[in-house]
Order: sequence, then C-alpha cells, then structure tokens
Amino acid sequence: MKRARNFNAGPAALPEDVLKRAQNEWLNIEDSGMSVMELSHRSAQYDKIHIHAVETLKELMAIPENYEVLLLQGGASLQFSMIPMNLLKEGKHADYILTGSWSDKAFKEAKKIGETAIVASSKEEKYTYIPSLEDIKVNDGAAYLHITSNNTIYGTQWKKFPETGNIPLIADMSSDILSEKIDVSKFGLIYAGAQKNLGPSGVTVVIIRKDLIQDNEHLPTMLNYATHVTSNSLYNTPPTLAIYLLSLVLDWAKEQGGIEKIAEINQQKSKIIYDAIDESNGFYKGHARPDSRSHMNVTFNLPSEEAEKQFLAEAKAAGFVGLNGHRSIGGCRASIYNAVPLAHC
Ligand code: PMP
Repeated sequence: MKRARNFNAGPAALPEDVLKRAQNEWLNIEDSGMSVMELSHRSAQYDKIHIHAVETLKELMAIPENYEVLLLQGGASLQFSMIPMNLLKEGKHADYILTGSWSDKAFKEAKKIGETAIVASSKEEKYTYIPSLEDIKVNDGAAYLHITSNNTIYGTQWKKFPETGNIPLIADMSSDILSEKIDVSKFGLIYAGAQKNLGPSGVTVVIIRKDLIQDNEHLPTMLNYATHVTSNSLYNTPPTLAIYLLSLVLDWAKEQGGIEKIAEINQQKSKIIYDAIDESNGFYKGHARPDSRSHMNVTFNLPSEEAEKQFLAEAKAAGFVGLNGHRSIGGCRASIYNAVPLAHC
C-alpha cells in the first residue's frame, strides 16, 4: 500500500511508526486482552498511559515544576472561552494581538466574557506579518496578553515572544507546539489542539502556571481549570484513544532526538519549499512577509486562480494531499508538521 504525501493542515500526517505500533497493540494493550478503547479509564493500565503522556510532554518541553499539564476536550476553540472565564476578572481587561483568524476568534470569545483590548494587529495587511515587538504596548493591569504563536491559515509564526513582565503571556500553540524549543517559564498558559503536532483530534493540551489556577466555583464544573487540576484530567471520561496516541507521538518525538533535533529538520523542510518559492522569479508568491514565515504552514499563490487549480490537480495526481489553502483565503498551503518527512517536502 502506498501512503499519501500528506500536507493536511489538521488533522494531519502522523508518524508511520506510531501508526504501526498502535496497530500492533490494537487488540491487546499492556497484556490486558483488550484494546485501549475498551479499558476502563479508572484502570491501572489506562492510568499508566495517561501519566506517561503527561510526564513525556513535561520532559520534552522541559516544563517547570510550577506548571500543570491538563488533557482536555472541546478543542483549542473551547480554550478561547475557558481562558477568559477563568482568568479575566471584573475590573480587569484582557489584551489580544490579532495575527490571523484564530486569534480573532479567541478575541471575540473573550469579548463575550469581559473587557478586552487589541494591542496590535496585522489584519489591515491581510495578516501577512507578525507585529514587531516595539509596536506592542501591553496595558498596565491587563489580566493577560493572548497571542497565536503560529497562524495556521496565513502561514506566519512568532520568532520572538513579547516580554510581558508580571502580566501572564498566553499562547495558542495549536499549530507549532513541539516544533521548536521554547522557554515555557515565559508563559502563563499554553494550549494546543493535538491534531497537528501531537496526535489525533479529540484531546487538547493545556499547560498552566500553578498560581493562575483559582477555585472559580461560580463556573460550570467542566469549564473550571481547578476541576481538571485536582482530578488529574480524569474528572470525567477522557478521550482515552486520543491520549494513548498522544503518548505514542511523544515517545516518537523523543526517539527523534527531542525538540532540538526536530526543530533542525523542520528548518530544513521549510527551507526547501521557501527556496523553491524565492527562486521561481515570482511565479510562486509567498503570502507571509519573509521575516514572519512559518516553519509549519507554507502559504503561497500562483499567478492566477487557473494556474492554482492546475497546480492542485497535478499535485493530487502525483499523490500529494492537502495542498489547497484554507477555504477562507484560497491559494495553496503546505502544512509540514513534525510527522511530515523531509523527502515529501
Ligand atoms: N488555533 C489554531 C492556531 C488552529 O490552527 C486551530 C485549528 N486549525 C484552532 C485554534 C481551532 O482548533 P480546534 O479545531 O481544535 O478547536
């Protein structure tokens, strides 16, 4: 069987080794005589998988002791609401930087909960760049500053993060978590849907600094971070299959040599495609300004819509999947997450 050259934006390519290991263990995991989906989420066998996922992520990202790792449901989209519900108190406001559709969605959800402000935006320039750090003025007394570290649709990525002092920096890292080394201690909260670099859809990782966890008893139980912290993300039935696959992807990342090694390969992968764009004498046109280019989502256009249609049709015939741009902006996009092999680029 021939596997696709998969450039999907998410759900996306998974490491073949992970799929094979899951296949091997499909009928009988941990000598239980059951598949992982048939285990009780209160069983010792499942507990081992759950803890292994959390501990391996902590190790790979060098997450400091004063952070909790939560495995939640509802996608990154539910975090757009949970963050302001838990962290935006009365009398405070939340600051947002708009660098694409996802940060705009996060901002709109926060607006429903409390006071908000936009402290920088590249919307007027079709989200082609990440605002420079000098242009960002965080408001005194802000509850937090929210950014989207990688903009999946527009293909831009933060290279350096804003210094926010005592104001917690919050980042949606859905499309670049685990793709390069970051200093977790610079952030109050990091969140990411798993379906790009971490595994299948169905589980969302939240990394939260412990001092930001408050007992928000007035909140619906499932929307309160404290609920998931005190129950080790086992308050209700977790997505056990997705968490199992997450744990296998994290093992795979370790086997690759960890984040530093993966980041090196990611640089090489994106360079191959950006070089092709830059050396095409304007035939291919990158959407992102070169200083803001993403290593995860390479977005580009051809001279006409006709040419783009032809490009996508020929790519499809050659076994390339998912090279069309997001339905909101069209064009072309190669999503080259960790599991996409260099050879495919
Ligand atoms: N943030 C970013 C940066 C994304 O790319 C996506 C999904 N592509 C989301 C949030 C929404 O994620 P979910 O579908 O898991 O809610």
